[in-house]
Order: sequence, then C-alpha cells, then structure tokens
Amino acid sequence: MGHTVIFPGSFDPITLGHEQIIHKALSLFDSVVVAIGINADKRTMFTVEQRCSMIRTVFANEPRVKVVAYDGLTVDFCISQHIRYILRGLRSASDFDYELGIAYANRALDNTIETLFLVADPQYSHINSSIVRDVLRHKGNVSAFIPKTLTL
Ligand code: ADP
Repeated sequence: MGHTVIFPGSFDPITLGHEQIIHKALSLFDSVVVAIGINADKRTMFTVEQRCSMIRTVFANEPRVKVVAYDGLTVDFCISQHIRYILRGLRSASDFDYELGIAYANRALDNTIETLFLVADPQYSHINSSIVRDVLRHKGNVSAFIPKTLTL
C-alpha cells in the first residue's frame, strides 16, 4: 500500500495556491485526498458539491487525486481512512502561528498522525480563496487566481 496524504480545507473555491500545493504533494506521496471540511458555522460562497466538482475538474486527468467531503474532526476522518499524514499550506508567519495551534491540537488528539507543511512558490503566496470571493462579488475577473481549467 502506498503513502497517502490528506489535504483538508474549505476550498471556497480552489485557487492556484491550493493547486500547486496538491501538485507538490503528488511528487512526495502516492496519492492525495483533498478533503473538504463541512463546517456548519462557516458561511461559504460555494456549496460542498460545487467545491468538490471544481477540484475534480482541475484534477480530472490525475487519478492519484481523490476529492471527498467530511464532517467532524480531521483526525477522526484520517483514522477512518487509515491516513497518517495531514498536509497544510503555509503563506505567512500568521498562517504558521494558526497552523501550529491546529497541529498541536491534532497531535494531542492522536499522536500517530503527522502534520506536514508545504510552501507555494512566491507568485502564489498572496492568493487565497477570500480574495477570489471578493473579486467575484464585485463581478471582477478571477482568472489570475484560479486554476486554468476553471471558469467562474
Ligand atoms: P481553511 O479554511 O481550512 O484554512 P483553505 O481552503 O483556506 O481552508 O486552505 C486550505 C489549506 O491551503 C490551508 O492549509 C491553507 O494554508 C493552504 N493554502 C491556501 N492558499 C495557499 C497558498 N496561496 N499557498 C500555500 N498554501 C495555501
């Protein structure tokens, strides 16, 4: 059995930053499970189904990427899927502080699951889903922020 990493997030919507992190993960792992966390408290622009289908479109030619939605704790989902590695992306020092807290919490919940961090190339480091949503709300062109295969 090969090594699988889970890349959990909101992906509301997927951006060039996410896409590159997934490509980098594919060079390190046999397969990548992109896992959309269902969070009832968080208002999203796109439904879970829309977010899943966008990511599936982007990776339509990559059978090593699987897209799923999950609710509950990420570590519980990992255990149910026999996945031992959680991947998160880092953009800035503030990301690091926030992510370290989550990683320690997950470690306290299950110390057999490792959190790994990857950094996107500098040209993608400023891109995030909330910028894309803002531009969309104002009817702007988001093609510089989202994967080439998507039109929003
Ligand atoms: P969440 O709501 O869980 O933060 P996001 O969809 O915003 O979900 O992000 C999912 C993951 O992708 C997070 O680890 C985030 O840091 C990472 N990420 C998002 N944009 C970028 C980027 N431009 N470069 C590197 N990592 C990124």
